[in-house]
Amino acid sequence: MPSKTLSSTKYLGVFDHPEFDDHEQIAFCREPAAGLQAIIAIHNSNRGPALGGCRMWPYKSEQEGLRDVLRLSRGMTYKSALANLDLGGGKSVIIGDPRHEKTPQLMRAMGEMVEGLGGRYIAAEDSGTSVADLKTMAQSTAHVAGIQDKEGPDGLMRSGDPSPATAYGVFVGLRAAVSHCLHTDSVKGLRVAIQGVGSVGLHLARYLHQAGAQLWVTDIYPEQIQRAVDEFQATAVAVDDVFKLDVDVLSPCALGAILNDETISQLRAKAIAGAANNQLSEPRHGQMLLDRGILYAPDYAINAGGIIDIANDRVGFERERLIKQLDGIYDTLTTIFQRSAESHTPTNIVADRLAEERFRKNDKSF
Ligand code: NAD
Repeated sequence: MPSKTLSSTKYLGVFDHPEFDDHEQIAFCREPAAGLQAIIAIHNSNRGPALGGCRMWPYKSEQEGLRDVLRLSRGMTYKSALANLDLGGGKSVIIGDPRHEKTPQLMRAMGEMVEGLGGRYIAAEDSGTSVADLKTMAQSTAHVAGIQDKEGPDGLMRSGDPSPATAYGVFVGLRAAVSHCLHTDSVKGLRVAIQGVGSVGLHLARYLHQAGAQLWVTDIYPEQIQRAVDEFQATAVAVDDVFKLDVDVLSPCALGAILNDETISQLRAKAIAGAANNQLSEPRHGQMLLDRGILYAPDYAINAGGIIDIANDRVGFERERLIKQLDGIYDTLTTIFQRSAESHTPTNIVADRLAEERFRKNDKSF
């Protein structure tokens, strides 16, 4: 049989992929009867099994899905290491439209693929999958996290949803930021603007209001703004005005890439401390914030409450342990801020280096 010739312009090998970063294992999964086509990537398991979301997305090609899973699994290694969790970084993507192609059969087939990795990868909820989908997946694998009913840091019961823990972690991290740049541990009278009062933003507003902060809020949905105005006496602001406010802290809790050339030049806040993922449009914007004297709490350090919460599911849920680990975000951020000040290095770069120290040496005592 003639051997297949691969066109070098079309075929991109995994090991040569621009996003490949010495990933330990990449599994390509197919189960035609269930319509499953998926990729599972384990980036690094030095600290423990690779935990990360199972995303379902209508990727236009396998290459698009591969790029996402390589990039996102690497991000999980850094996030879990920085949070001092005994976990590595992984992620999975199911190629398909979650609105039209998701079936219980598909989720169970994905569960079988996860089970086949023998616990090296642990799946959690992500874009395009819900706690209910993960519960279906759990019918065929033991390696699913974040699906248990439990008490949040606020004492209220919830099903899987990590948002209350994420919000508490952001509150803790925000206090570390103001302690560093305003030299106060008190939130009383602090002026905070929250961009996006959804699941995390609203819980954060509650913590800040209870601690005596003054709040400004914006959202694309007026009813979300109104809730914060009614419940926490927040002042409503237009979406485009949130960057220009004369506040102490801006807390991005909506979208990524909101710290860019245009917005950074408008900022009057002294610190940025919020839940949104990928807040810097490009890594160089970390330097731009440093140059402007604005303290940036790196997103994946301050929003680690979600992964901390999910990790707790695996070891039997205890509220005290959860709170203690969430409070650890304060120390991690303080270390980052101090190292940044000493070395004049942007906090996003310092965070990456600290995470690398933690997963490369697997030393949990930093
Ligand atoms: P969410 O969808 O519940 O809330 C986001 C809110 O932002 C919504 O109310 C939305 O209307 C609003 N919004 C969207 N675009 C906006 C804009 N241009 N200006 C102002 N508001 C806008 O999401 P969430 O779960 O609260 O997560 C918020 C952010 O935190 C996301 O970036 C998410 O990836 C990140 N994050 C969340 C968790 C978690 O536990 N939920 C964990 C880690 C990171």
